[in-house]
Amino acid sequence: MDIVIATRNKKKLKEIKRIMEEGDVSITNVFSLDDFPGCPDVQEDGKTFEENAVKKAVSVSKYTGIIALADDSGLEVDVLNGAPGVLSARYAGDSADDTANLKKLLENLENVPYKKRGARFACCLALAYQNTVKTFFGYVEGRIGIEPRGENGFGYDPIFCPEGYDRTFAQMSDEEKNALSHRGKALREFQKYLREKGTSL
Ligand code: IMP
Repeated sequence: MDIVIATRNKKKLKEIKRIMEEGDVSITNVFSLDDFPGCPDVQEDGKTFEENAVKKAVSVSKYTGIIALADDSGLEVDVLNGAPGVLSARYAGDSADDTANLKKLLENLENVPYKKRGARFACCLALAYQNTVKTFFGYVEGRIGIEPRGENGFGYDPIFCPEGYDRTFAQMSDEEKNALSHRGKALREFQKYLREKGTSL
C-alpha cells in the first residue's frame, strides 16, 4: 500500500513519518507533496479541523490517484474562546511564521495568570481514497507558559506544557512528545484502523 502525506509543513511531515515508523502497519511507500510538485494547494477555509483535513485529503488523493492522509491541527486556548484554533498557522497574519504567531499569542495572554492559561492541541487526520473518507482525532490538554522554553519541535511547542508536566513540548525528545501529543494519538487511531482493515482498504 502506498500513501501520500498531504502536507508541505516539513516538521509536521517528519513527525508523522516518525510516528508511522514506530507503528506496526506495513505501508510500502510513504510519499509527500514534494513527490508531486504539481499538486494544487488547497485553501484551508473550513470552520473546523475536520473540514480542512477532509478537503486536503480528498483533493490530494484525486490528484495523485493514491491514498492520501491529511493533518489539520492547532491550538485552542480557553480564555481566548478557542483561538487561534483553525487559524493557528496564520494567527499573526497570512504570511506569519511560527515565531510571530507565538509572540502574538503570548501578547494576548499577557496579564493572564498561569492557572488560567488552559489550552489544548487538537489534530484531525483525514484519510481519503476513491469513495472512502475516514477521520481520526487526537487531543492533548495543557497550559500556555509565560515565556518560550526549549528548542525542539515546531509551532507553539515552546509555550505548551502538557498536563502533569512542567516542561514544554519543545523541551521533550521526539519520542516523549509523540507519546503524549494530539498527532501521536490521532496517528495511533489511524494505525489501529489500518490493522483492522488489513489490505482491504
Ligand atoms: P495546519 O494544520 O497546517 O493548518 O497548521 C497547524 C498549525 O498549528 C501549525 O502551523 C502550528 O502553528 C500549530 N500546531 C499544530 N500542531 C502542532 C504541534 O504539534 N506543535 C506546535 N504547534 C502545532
